[in-house]
Amino acid sequence: MSGLTLSSISKRFGEVNAVEALDLHVEPGSFVCLLGPSGCGKTTLLRMIAGLDEPTSGTIRFDGEDITARPVHRREIGMVFQSLALFPHLSVGDNIAYPLAIRGVDRKARAARVEELLDLVRLPGVAGRAITQLSGGQRQRVAIARALSVSPRLFLLDEPLSALDAKLREAMQVELRQLQQRLGITTIVVTHDQREAMTMADRIVVMRSGRIQQEAPPVEIYRRPANAFVADFIGQTNLLPVEGNALLGMALPAAGPLGPLASVRPEDVSIRPAGEAPIEARVAFVRDIGSSVEIHLDAGGTRVVALAPAGARLTVGETVSLAIEAGAVTVFAQGAAA
Ligand code: ATP
Repeated sequence: MSGLTLSSISKRFGEVNAVEALDLHVEPGSFVCLLGPSGCGKTTLLRMIAGLDEPTSGTIRFDGEDITARPVHRREIGMVFQSLALFPHLSVGDNIAYPLAIRGVDRKARAARVEELLDLVRLPGVAGRAITQLSGGQRQRVAIARALSVSPRLFLLDEPLSALDAKLREAMQVELRQLQQRLGITTIVVTHDQREAMTMADRIVVMRSGRIQQEAPPVEIYRRPANAFVADFIGQTNLLPVEGNALLGMALPAAGPLGPLASVRPEDVSIRPAGEAPIEARVAFVRDIGSSVEIHLDAGGTRVVALAPAGARLTVGETVSLAIEAGAVTVFAQGAAA
């Protein structure tokens, strides 16, 4: 099978199971984000794929070959770390050409490749500059160019954008995704930022305590979270109790017994005048952020957050009613709660 296949990969550090019997297939040319809270094993997983850490058990295959024991320099990977690890005493060009130089590529070929890579990352003509003369975003691009210099078959990045400010980070997310699409290179990025993962990934792998919670395209993860942990981790949600087959007193269509918990996204809660919709509620707090209005409601003692379009006018203390489409409710099976 082509692409990257991890089979029952585990990594123990003493008493800690950093990654536990994890299976994952990454299609060739796809962009995958490993997403999860601090300590869930994302970096450990990436380091095993890179060959920097050896799995305690399990196998890693790439394009059909078992690479579990293959040393890092023979894996044909390009890597970018959060720290970037650029050499401050070398010029931009020499940084980018470094992996080529240690592979014995001659000076002229190196210079040509450096120009090609600088064009690719939209930094033409800066080969002679010192690293210290570049901004954070420009250094990021140099680190990416260096990682791609040897035309890797697999591109691995660990929190590559987390040192950048919010605006620049968002711009770089789009750039990185477009670059990956132009090159068609299989790419795996570690992040703890769900928006970043949603922007870039073909598929998101949500991890917790060394295990995969869900692996799916971003919209599916958002619309159909596998459990309460995923629902809560990806975007904002209301985790609401299901009693019998009712949610806040509203009957849900059910073929059999329902689990005890459901997720409803704030944008799926619509606010109507009192008495018009099945759920009665009182406005407890209003946060108007201009582009939308977030409304916190008290529905018979249960807190519900709704997101209304810009211009919605509601007053704290006002009684309203709430409508939730049954199709927007994700009920978790017994045992799938966080
Ligand atoms: P973060 O987002 O904070 O970087 P992460 O999801 O990348 O977290 P890992 O760095 O993979 O998580 O760590 C997973 C677990 O393994 C943690 O409990 C961590 O303390 C432990 N761990 C990681 N590396 C080592 C090591 N070299 N020695 C001992 N324990 C380690």
